[in-house]
Amino acid sequence: MKNILFVASESTPFIKTGGLADVVGSLPKCFDKEKYDCRVILPKYMCMSEEWKSKMNYVTHFYMDLGWRSQYVGVLEMQYDGVQFYFIDNEYYFSGSKPYGNIYQDIEKFAFFSKAALSALPSIGFRPDIVHCHDWQTGLIPVMLKDKFPENEFYRGIKSVITIHNLKFQGVWDVKTVRDLTGLPSYYFTPDKLEAYGDANYLKGGIVYADAVTTVSDTYAEEIKTPFYGERLDGLMRARSNSLRGIVNGIDYDVWNPDTDPLIDHHYNAKNFRKEKIKNKRALQRELGLEQNDSRFMVGIVSRLTDQKGFDLIAHMMDEMCQNDIQIVVLGTGDEKYENMFRHFAWKYQGKVSANIFYSEALSHKVYAACDAFLMPSLFEPCGLSQIISLRYGTVPIVRETGGLKDTVQPYNQYESTGTGFSFANYNAHEMYYTIQHAMEVYHSKKREWNKLIDRGMAMDYSWNSSARKYEEMYDWLAGC
Ligand code: ADP
Repeated sequence: MKNILFVASESTPFIKTGGLADVVGSLPKCFDKEKYDCRVILPKYMCMSEEWKSKMNYVTHFYMDLGWRSQYVGVLEMQYDGVQFYFIDNEYYFSGSKPYGNIYQDIEKFAFFSKAALSALPSIGFRPDIVHCHDWQTGLIPVMLKDKFPENEFYRGIKSVITIHNLKFQGVWDVKTVRDLTGLPSYYFTPDKLEAYGDANYLKGGIVYADAVTTVSDTYAEEIKTPFYGERLDGLMRARSNSLRGIVNGIDYDVWNPDTDPLIDHHYNAKNFRKEKIKNKRALQRELGLEQNDSRFMVGIVSRLTDQKGFDLIAHMMDEMCQNDIQIVVLGTGDEKYENMFRHFAWKYQGKVSANIFYSEALSHKVYAACDAFLMPSLFEPCGLSQIISLRYGTVPIVRETGGLKDTVQPYNQYESTGTGFSFANYNAHEMYYTIQHAMEVYHSKKREWNKLIDRGMAMDYSWNSSARKYEEMYDWLAGC
């Protein structure tokens, strides 16, 4: 039996701001339970819903040094869906209305969380063989595991992995503050270790010190070795390329299943979608005040509204797009300029564009179920889950060929009748528009071909089955090192 510990800043169903939460919430239960005891440590955010907080059980508490401070660490626990979760409690750090706030607060918050997660292990009575860290928030853990912790017998020999879900976010702050906070000696703050371009960089520390580094698709693993996608760490990614691998994300097939999904109005599957899926479209048209018309090409967007996701291309083409026989449904929050852009077009094209500028799990399921196509023209995309969910819901993805989008969506080939979606290569608004038009043309005038695209998409397997085995192989390899 190998003990694996996930340490992460978010996880479904407790707290979610993006795809990271989906991964942490769904991967641990997919490991072979006979061979791996995988547990998860999260912060106990005050903003978690009462439903979850009330079910957590107190385990222990202690005081921990953090630089010159001594801080309270509470530990709570809860079993969920067969997985043991632990929560680190500290009201000073985790009382915000959102998991993340200002970066200077987050820098201290996650230095605390990383050290607290490791410090809590002896009192929990769980000694991991491997600590699996996720993103910059836990980047200090591989560093700490190499620093003071090995002085204690308990920690000696623990291996670490870091998974990069998004290289753009690195956790950067000035060296002096981070040195004070963490108590790490100056030795670590050099450009071959924690420092990058004069500042302390948590993610870099994790990448340098972890025994293995993974990211969430093969293509992204290659892309981040280049300056365009490397976010100024491409040199480091090239240097670590022997220890870097891409393992594509899966989705939770129990949660995302159009045949059983309690959040959608009409269930359907790969056999009956031709008749049943459209009922969801009708229901959503009614709910959102869109024109009631079966033949409108309904395009969905469920996303953080940021530059990464290609919204400047969409902004550029919205007027043109709306000249077509189309409906556009947006669900998302993020940059004000994009929130207002969609509000504007919803006002300008009433009945055609619906802008839902908020976060809603329930509405997201309805959008995936109702739409004909899903638009995701990302500038970069480490993996992307929305296009995978779309495939599962018979909603044809229209994507740019980058990162995980390239790895999970096969472009439609009309001559060979292959492919599961539509894609374009260059980050160019007109290329995106022509691709949407092509999809629209197939939808309107070659319905059989369109339905076959859906057949092929729904037949793809992006459950965790094969990717969980790849993580297991990596754990076995690491444990044997
Ligand atoms: P990222 O992690 O970069 O935000 P992903 O595609 O990997 O992008 O994951 C995004 C996840 O967040 C998907 O599960 C998507 O459905 C969900 N999501 C994004 N915005 C919203 C929203 N406003 N309401 C509900 N779910 C959302």
